[in-house]
Amino acid sequence: MTESLPRNSMNGSIVLFGPPGAGKGTQATRIVDLTSKPQVSTGDMLRAALSEGSKLGIEAKSFMEAGELVPDDVIIGLISERLKMDDAKNGVLFDGFPRTIAQARELAKIAEVSAVVSIEVPDESIVRRIVGRRMDPETGEIYHIDFKPAPESIINRLIQRKDDNESTVRNRLKAYHEQTSPLAIWYENQGLLIKVDGEQTIKNVGDEIISKLSAR
Ligand code: AMP
Repeated sequence: MTESLPRNSMNGSIVLFGPPGAGKGTQATRIVDLTSKPQVSTGDMLRAALSEGSKLGIEAKSFMEAGELVPDDVIIGLISERLKMDDAKNGVLFDGFPRTIAQARELAKIAEVSAVVSIEVPDESIVRRIVGRRMDPETGEIYHIDFKPAPESIINRLIQRKDDNESTVRNRLKAYHEQTSPLAIWYENQGLLIKVDGEQTIKNVGDEIISKLSAR
Protein backbone atom coordinates (compact mmCIF):
# COMPACT_ATOMS: atom_id res chain seq x y z
CA MET A 1 0.00 0.00 0.00
CA THR A 2 1.31 3.46 -0.85
CA GLU A 3 1.41 5.68 2.22
CA SER A 4 0.02 9.16 2.05
CA LEU A 5 -0.59 12.14 4.29
CA PRO A 6 -3.69 14.35 4.28
CA ARG A 7 -3.41 17.61 2.36
CA ASN A 8 -3.27 19.87 5.43
CA SER A 9 -0.05 18.32 6.69
CA MET A 10 1.41 18.78 3.21
CA ASN A 11 1.33 22.59 3.25
CA GLY A 12 4.46 24.37 4.34
CA SER A 13 7.60 22.84 5.76
CA ILE A 14 8.14 20.11 8.34
CA VAL A 15 10.98 20.31 10.87
CA LEU A 16 12.61 17.15 12.19
CA PHE A 17 13.82 18.05 15.65
CA GLY A 18 15.86 16.18 18.25
CA PRO A 19 19.35 15.56 19.60
CA PRO A 20 22.17 14.33 17.36
CA GLY A 21 21.68 10.63 16.70
CA ALA A 22 17.94 10.68 17.40
CA GLY A 23 17.24 9.24 13.94
CA LYS A 24 16.25 12.42 12.10
CA GLY A 25 18.15 11.48 8.92
CA THR A 26 16.82 7.91 9.00
CA GLN A 27 13.21 9.01 9.37
CA ALA A 28 13.65 11.79 6.80
CA THR A 29 13.87 9.25 3.98
CA ARG A 30 10.38 7.92 4.68
CA ILE A 31 8.84 11.38 5.05
CA VAL A 32 10.48 12.53 1.81
CA ASP A 33 8.92 9.55 -0.01
CA LEU A 34 5.57 10.35 1.50
CA THR A 35 5.42 14.09 0.98
CA SER A 36 7.77 14.61 -2.00
CA LYS A 37 9.29 17.48 -0.04
CA PRO A 38 13.05 17.64 -0.41
CA GLN A 39 15.17 16.93 2.65
CA VAL A 40 17.21 19.95 3.70
CA SER A 41 19.92 18.88 6.11
CA THR A 42 22.25 21.69 7.18
CA GLY A 43 24.70 19.05 8.48
CA ASP A 44 24.84 17.38 5.02
CA MET A 45 25.18 20.76 3.30
CA LEU A 46 28.05 21.73 5.59
CA ARG A 47 29.78 18.37 5.11
CA ALA A 48 29.48 18.78 1.32
CA ALA A 49 31.01 22.27 1.59
CA LEU A 50 33.77 20.87 3.75
CA SER A 51 34.70 18.15 1.31
CA GLU A 52 34.64 20.64 -1.60
CA GLY A 53 36.96 22.88 0.40
CA SER A 54 34.72 25.92 -0.25
CA LYS A 55 34.86 29.14 1.79
CA LEU A 56 31.79 27.99 3.72
CA GLY A 57 33.41 24.64 4.46
CA ILE A 58 36.56 26.29 5.74
CA GLU A 59 34.50 28.60 7.94
CA ALA A 60 32.44 25.72 9.39
CA LYS A 61 35.20 23.14 9.86
CA SER A 62 36.52 24.00 13.32
CA PHE A 63 33.02 24.32 14.80
CA MET A 64 31.91 20.99 13.38
CA GLU A 65 34.99 19.13 14.49
CA ALA A 66 34.61 20.51 18.02
CA GLY A 67 30.91 19.56 18.14
CA GLU A 68 29.87 23.20 18.40
CA LEU A 69 27.20 25.00 16.45
CA VAL A 70 28.22 26.89 13.32
CA PRO A 71 27.36 30.62 13.72
CA ASP A 72 23.74 31.56 13.00
CA ASP A 73 24.51 34.03 10.19
CA VAL A 74 26.34 31.32 8.22
CA ILE A 75 23.47 28.87 8.60
CA ILE A 76 20.77 31.43 7.85
CA GLY A 77 22.62 32.46 4.65
CA LEU A 78 22.81 28.82 3.60
CA ILE A 79 19.10 28.19 4.21
CA SER A 80 17.93 31.41 2.51
CA GLU A 81 19.77 30.36 -0.65
CA ARG A 82 18.45 26.80 -0.48
CA LEU A 83 14.83 27.96 -0.09
CA LYS A 84 15.08 30.00 -3.30
CA MET A 85 15.44 26.81 -5.32
CA ASP A 86 12.50 25.59 -7.35
CA ASP A 87 11.96 22.33 -5.48
CA ALA A 88 11.44 24.24 -2.19
CA LYS A 89 8.33 26.12 -3.20
CA ASN A 90 5.86 23.68 -1.59
CA GLY A 91 7.89 23.42 1.59
CA VAL A 92 10.80 21.23 2.59
CA LEU A 93 11.73 18.75 5.28
CA PHE A 94 14.29 20.37 7.57
CA ASP A 95 16.70 17.99 9.25
CA GLY A 96 19.02 19.53 11.86
CA PHE A 97 17.68 23.05 11.31
CA PRO A 98 16.73 25.28 13.11
CA ARG A 99 19.06 24.70 16.05
CA THR A 100 18.76 28.03 17.87
CA ILE A 101 15.92 30.45 18.62
CA ALA A 102 17.65 33.00 16.34
CA GLN A 103 17.55 30.50 13.44
CA ALA A 104 13.89 29.71 14.13
CA ARG A 105 12.99 33.42 14.14
CA GLU A 106 14.70 33.92 10.78
CA LEU A 107 13.01 30.81 9.41
CA ALA A 108 9.61 32.16 10.44
CA LYS A 109 10.27 35.22 8.25
CA ILE A 110 11.02 33.24 5.10
CA ALA A 111 8.96 30.03 5.28
CA GLU A 112 5.83 28.55 6.79
CA VAL A 113 6.41 25.73 9.28
CA SER A 114 3.41 23.39 9.56
CA ALA A 115 4.77 20.85 12.03
CA VAL A 116 7.82 20.18 14.18
CA VAL A 117 8.43 16.49 14.85
CA SER A 118 10.49 16.04 18.00
CA ILE A 119 12.17 12.61 18.15
CA GLU A 120 12.85 12.06 21.84
CA VAL A 121 15.84 9.96 22.91
CA PRO A 122 17.62 10.16 26.30
CA ASP A 123 21.30 11.15 26.41
CA GLU A 124 22.55 7.71 27.58
CA SER A 125 21.24 6.11 24.38
CA ILE A 126 22.60 8.87 22.14
CA VAL A 127 26.27 8.27 22.90
CA ARG A 128 25.97 4.56 22.19
CA ARG A 129 24.04 5.18 18.99
CA ILE A 130 26.43 7.77 17.57
CA VAL A 131 29.69 6.08 18.41
CA GLY A 132 28.53 2.90 16.62
CA ARG A 133 27.21 4.75 13.56
CA ARG A 134 28.79 3.99 10.17
CA MET A 135 28.02 5.22 6.66
CA ASP A 136 28.29 3.55 3.29
CA PRO A 137 29.90 6.25 1.09
CA GLU A 138 28.56 4.59 -2.06
CA THR A 139 24.88 4.67 -1.16
CA GLY A 140 24.70 7.10 1.77
CA GLU A 141 22.99 4.36 3.82
CA ILE A 142 23.54 4.62 7.58
CA TYR A 143 24.31 1.49 9.61
CA HIS A 144 25.08 0.75 13.25
CA ILE A 145 27.58 -1.82 14.45
CA ASP A 146 25.03 -3.32 16.90
CA PHE A 147 21.57 -2.11 15.95
CA LYS A 148 21.73 -2.20 12.14
CA PRO A 149 24.77 -4.17 10.99
CA ALA A 150 25.82 -3.73 7.37
CA PRO A 151 26.08 -6.75 5.05
CA GLU A 152 29.45 -8.50 5.38
CA SER A 153 30.30 -7.67 1.75
CA ILE A 154 30.40 -3.90 2.29
CA ILE A 155 31.84 -3.69 5.81
CA ASN A 156 35.32 -2.76 4.54
CA ARG A 157 34.14 0.34 2.76
CA LEU A 158 32.08 1.82 5.63
CA ILE A 159 33.25 5.11 7.08
CA GLN A 160 32.71 6.88 10.39
CA ARG A 161 31.92 10.60 10.55
CA LYS A 162 34.81 12.55 12.03
CA ASP A 163 32.53 14.09 14.68
CA ASP A 164 31.00 10.72 15.69
CA ASN A 165 33.49 10.08 18.51
CA GLU A 166 32.61 10.10 22.19
CA SER A 167 34.15 13.41 23.26
CA THR A 168 32.67 15.32 20.30
CA VAL A 169 29.30 13.67 20.89
CA ARG A 170 29.31 14.95 24.47
CA ASN A 171 29.94 18.48 23.15
CA ARG A 172 27.21 18.10 20.57
CA LEU A 173 24.81 17.04 23.32
CA LYS A 174 25.84 20.02 25.44
CA ALA A 175 25.19 22.35 22.50
CA TYR A 176 21.85 20.63 22.00
CA HIS A 177 20.72 21.09 25.60
CA GLU A 178 21.96 24.65 25.91
CA GLN A 179 21.07 26.10 22.52
CA THR A 180 18.62 23.82 20.69
CA SER A 181 16.28 22.18 23.19
CA PRO A 182 14.70 25.54 24.27
CA LEU A 183 13.21 25.55 20.76
CA ALA A 184 10.89 22.69 21.72
CA ILE A 185 9.01 24.98 24.12
CA TRP A 186 9.07 27.78 21.57
CA TYR A 187 7.37 25.56 19.00
CA GLU A 188 5.09 23.94 21.57
CA ASN A 189 3.76 27.39 22.44
CA GLN A 190 2.90 27.82 18.78
CA GLY A 191 0.98 24.52 18.76
CA LEU A 192 3.39 22.98 16.25
CA LEU A 193 5.27 20.39 18.32
CA ILE A 194 4.62 16.67 17.82
CA LYS A 195 6.49 14.42 20.29
CA VAL A 196 7.54 10.96 19.19
CA ASP A 197 9.25 8.23 21.23
CA GLY A 198 12.58 7.73 19.45
CA GLU A 199 13.52 4.61 21.40
CA GLN A 200 11.33 2.25 19.38
CA THR A 201 12.33 0.34 16.26
CA ILE A 202 13.02 2.48 13.18
CA LYS A 203 9.76 1.29 11.65
CA ASN A 204 7.68 2.07 14.73
CA VAL A 205 9.20 5.53 15.11
CA GLY A 206 8.27 6.19 11.47
CA ASP A 207 4.74 4.83 11.99
CA GLU A 208 4.24 7.07 15.02
CA ILE A 209 5.48 10.13 13.09
CA ILE A 210 3.13 9.42 10.20
CA SER A 211 0.09 8.73 12.34
CA LYS A 212 0.66 11.88 14.39
CA LEU A 213 1.25 14.02 11.30
CA SER A 214 -1.91 12.57 9.73
CA ALA A 215 -3.96 13.36 12.82
CA ARG A 216 -3.16 17.07 12.64
P1 AMP B 1 24.34 17.13 12.01
O1 AMP B 1 24.72 16.33 10.83
O2 AMP B 1 22.96 17.72 11.88
O3 AMP B 1 24.55 16.40 13.31
O4 AMP B 1 25.34 18.39 12.04
C1 AMP B 1 26.74 18.22 12.17
C2 AMP B 1 27.38 19.52 12.64
O5 AMP B 1 27.12 20.56 11.70
C3 AMP B 1 26.84 20.06 13.96
O6 AMP B 1 27.47 19.47 15.08
C4 AMP B 1 27.16 21.54 13.83
O7 AMP B 1 28.54 21.81 14.03
C5 AMP B 1 26.88 21.80 12.36
N1 AMP B 1 25.46 22.17 12.11
C6 AMP B 1 24.53 21.48 11.40
N2 AMP B 1 23.36 22.12 11.37
C7 AMP B 1 23.53 23.25 12.08
C8 AMP B 1 22.67 24.33 12.44
N3 AMP B 1 21.38 24.36 12.04
N4 AMP B 1 23.18 25.32 13.21
C9 AMP B 1 24.47 25.31 13.62
N5 AMP B 1 25.33 24.32 13.33
C10 AMP B 1 24.87 23.29 12.56
